[in-house]
Amino acid sequence: MSDIRLYMFQSGTQRCKAHDIRMNQGGDADCEIPVPWFLLTHPKGNVIIDGGLAAEGLSDPRGYWGDVVDSYQPVMTEAQGCLAQLAKLGLSSEEIGFVVLSHLHSDHSGAIGRFPNATHIVQRSEYHYAFAPDWFAAGAYVRRDFDRPGLKWHFMEGAATDGYDLYGDGVLRMIFTPGHSVGHQSFLVQLPNAGAILLAVDAAYTLDHWNEKALPGFMASAVDTVRSVGKLRMLAEQTDAMVITGHDLETWPRLKQAPNYYD
Ligand SMILES: [Zn+2]
Repeated sequence: MSDIRLYMFQSGTQRCKAHDIRMNQGGDADCEIPVPWFLLTHPKGNVIIDGGLAAEGLSDPRGYWGDVVDSYQPVMTEAQGCLAQLAKLGLSSEEIGFVVLSHLHSDHSGAIGRFPNATHIVQRSEYHYAFAPDWFAAGAYVRRDFDRPGLKWHFMEGAATDGYDLYGDGVLRMIFTPGHSVGHQSFLVQLPNAGAILLAVDAAYTLDHWNEKALPGFMASAVDTVRSVGKLRMLAEQTDAMVITGHDLETWPRLKQAPNYYD
């Protein structure tokens, strides 16, 4: 068994409308999307990728997340919070060396500040944008998740740091994929046995988005969104990667979920 393992988790689901996921498709039909996050174990430090929704919000969802709960209603229990799920695997909060963030929307920011030894890695442009988002994107950012005193941050610098290799051994690379949000990044994971796994996260909500059959229902820039998918498709071909999209209710349940893992 390798020390390098990728675990897939889900902090519940969100109820929304079909057109929120596939632009101009499905109308007002209800849909329930998974809220994925990941743990990568590695001898040089364990990584949480994203972390789902903050379990602290469950006691007062509207007070914590705001009116966005009318459009994206969390369906989650305390036991599905990231700390609780890691505890079930036998991992304490001290054992996480990095929290790596695709972007700072609140269904991805629930791990920030929960791990005392963690360096938090995000694109600088995303971090800055989160403090002053445009009106249409404001509901997606919950400042109390990321505006915390005493956090250790390390910022990626867009194209200049594209492909940044966290451990220096090719196991985790950050791929700059703006569009869904201003400073979105995706992740290329290279595992000893399972090979390459590309975590597109919200650079592609679903395989329909990946296959250019639908735009997502939410984005900061349509042009960047489309070009980032094009970039990831090239990368997936080059590396023969298994592709995992961000909120795909058809493909997500087919993946191995924690406590099972890819190694
Ligand atoms: Zn998002």
